[in-house]
Amino acid sequence: MKINFKDKKALIRVDFNVPLDKSYSITDDTRIREALPTIRHILDQGGSAILMSHLGRPLEKRNADGSINREKFTLRHLVKHLRKKLKARVHFAEDCIGKVPVKKAAALKPGEVLLLENTRFYAEEEQGNPEFAQKLAALADVYVNDAFGTAHRAHASTTIVANYFDPQHKCFGFLMEREIENARRVMQHPEKPVTCVVGGAKVSDKIVLLERFLDFADQIIIGGAMAYTFMLAKKGSIGNSLVEPDRVKAAKEFLKKAKAAGVKVLLPKDSLCGDKFAADATVRIFPSHQIPESWMGLDIGPVAAKSFGRAIRQSKTIVWNGPMGVFEMPAFAEGTKYIAKAVARATKSGAFSMVGGGDSVAAVNQLKLAKKVSFVSTGGGAMLEYLEGKALPGIKAIAG
Ligand code: AMP
Repeated sequence: MKINFKDKKALIRVDFNVPLDKSYSITDDTRIREALPTIRHILDQGGSAILMSHLGRPLEKRNADGSINREKFTLRHLVKHLRKKLKARVHFAEDCIGKVPVKKAAALKPGEVLLLENTRFYAEEEQGNPEFAQKLAALADVYVNDAFGTAHRAHASTTIVANYFDPQHKCFGFLMEREIENARRVMQHPEKPVTCVVGGAKVSDKIVLLERFLDFADQIIIGGAMAYTFMLAKKGSIGNSLVEPDRVKAAKEFLKKAKAAGVKVLLPKDSLCGDKFAADATVRIFPSHQIPESWMGLDIGPVAAKSFGRAIRQSKTIVWNGPMGVFEMPAFAEGTKYIAKAVARATKSGAFSMVGGGDSVAAVNQLKLAKKVSFVSTGGGAMLEYLEGKALPGIKAIAG
């Protein structure tokens, strides 16, 4: 962060959209912990921090009488935890715009924190309303965006607010800087060979990503249910496996483009199949292009896992998005586990590895391998769009 925050009031967009239990206790404070270095840095420099975030979807999940369920969606639930973690004075403003935050922001002293109420109590937030954004901006001297997970949305607090600060008075927080830097590292100057691993349910969700990977990958590994659409494209039989027949053409075209670009595409040679979509299904291994009727591929098979693992271990840069099978069911989690371990081993031998996208992140966390890969993106949909090559409004608003 290039700004000197001494005696400055910094308006920081954080992602405090944390899960709460029935008594409104935080069940996973990862997102809060991740924002701490940025806040701490600003306070330590002698600045003060005005924090804003959304929590849940209060305008969609209203009370029966149509009113907003303030009790459920208030950010006040986080104040005690924040005080403990930051070891600083944390004030709370019962609104994010209007007289209350204006008064409290004006009274804020260096080293102190003001947490604003949920920005999504106002429809103007998601509409990206300029007047609303201007009111938020007026609370502070500088704007810091540290919420990468919402950077793909042109909301008032994530994007529009930045229009009211000149380039010297706005910047990314540490978390956001790291996400951008790591994504650029793999896309712009990756050490070769580069392997991209893509899994998950649907080709339709990932086709843009796959095509983008052709720009910098040496090989692309495709697993998960997606692989069966590719098997159909290669005239295989896939039994009852999850498939998108309307994407077979796109899969064929992708394979052609990959060939022309000299990028190797690895599909699973074999599949671990179940006789039903259930944790207690009877399990058998079949070649992925010869799955009998009434069987469905629910994970990559052992031969595929070994060949994918080998390819991963020989790589210098690895990007992974999406599980290799229905990893939520232990019987079909082995393929994803094998890949996670191969990525961890390659990292130990000096490769740079980045895991992004909800489910592969969940898999890496479940296996306690998060610390054994180079970077786990918290970005979800935002990271997917960034890797796809889209200009994210939250990034553009600051970096131009
Ligand atoms: P995505 O959100 O696109 O990354 O997809 C993740 C989901 O794909 C997970 O819930 C997996 O259970 C599911 N999935 C992965 N492989 C398969 C498969 N072979 N059959 C059905 N679902 C799958």
